[in-house]
Amino acid sequence: MDELERILATDPGRRGVLPLVVPGDLTGAAQAVLDCHHIVIATGFFVPEAGAAETDGPPGAEAIGAAARALGKQVMYLTDPPCAPVLLGMGLEPLVVFSESLALPEADCWLAIERPGRAADGRYYSMRGADLSQHCLAIDQWFLTASRRGARTIGIGDGGNEIGMGKVAAMVKSSVPLGQRIASVISTDKLVVAGVSNWGGWGLVAEMSRRVGQQLLPTTEMAHETLVRAVAAGAVDGITGQNDLSVDGFPWMIHTEVLARLHRIATRDRPRAG
Ligand code: ZN
Ligand code: ZN
Repeated sequence: MDELERILATDPGRRGVLPLVVPGDLTGAAQAVLDCHHIVIATGFFVPEAGAAETDGPPGAEAIGAAARALGKQVMYLTDPPCAPVLLGMGLEPLVVFSESLALPEADCWLAIERPGRAADGRYYSMRGADLSQHCLAIDQWFLTASRRGARTIGIGDGGNEIGMGKVAAMVKSSVPLGQRIASVISTDKLVVAGVSNWGGWGLVAEMSRRVGQQLLPTTEMAHETLVRAVAAGAVDGITGQNDLSVDGFPWMIHTEVLARLHRIATRDRPRAG
């Protein structure tokens, strides 16, 4: 595991994510984004008690989308109706709001960050084991279809219940609380595991940055402004359920420290071949 992967896998929430890291997949995911022309970025994890999407996911999605655009890629965001108000309010555009009747968007890379993936029983679960299926549409099905059609797929998650975690489902079952129930069976080509999914998004951008020799990460001020926009759009902390400037139960200070560390790595290391 390299330094970047170790920073991402810091597990302040003690969710048992460290064993889920697939060494080398962060690099592979970054390269897949660099190689693509058109990327779909899916996000949105609904918190039923609060009636809104959580603050983890959309900020990471925005950072990835901005980095991809800076490199000339076509970017499209994807969510479902329950989570759409947060993405719309943040101004993540263009946005596709999933419905079963829509045709699959054309893209050669599909990325999901903090987006539920179905468990073995076909239901969607929160990390606490609550059944979210009533509030969650089958965006994960599009990942399966896109993969069959030859697109590259990337999953970013922090709990074992997200799109992509099917790649390490056996480990989710053995190392994550409630893993037997919540483990997603939806696998992606590359999987980025982080203590918080937004960190995984930033980590991906950090790895892209060092590969192209160009700083693509948002500044800590920009990232703070993104979170302010998410909260203004109604997003809530997924752990506390509160509509405030925190993510996964951690105040902004924790996140800004992680981003600052990633910044240093992204600019310090020279781009590597292959
Ligand atoms: Zn999660
Ligand atoms: Zn999270």
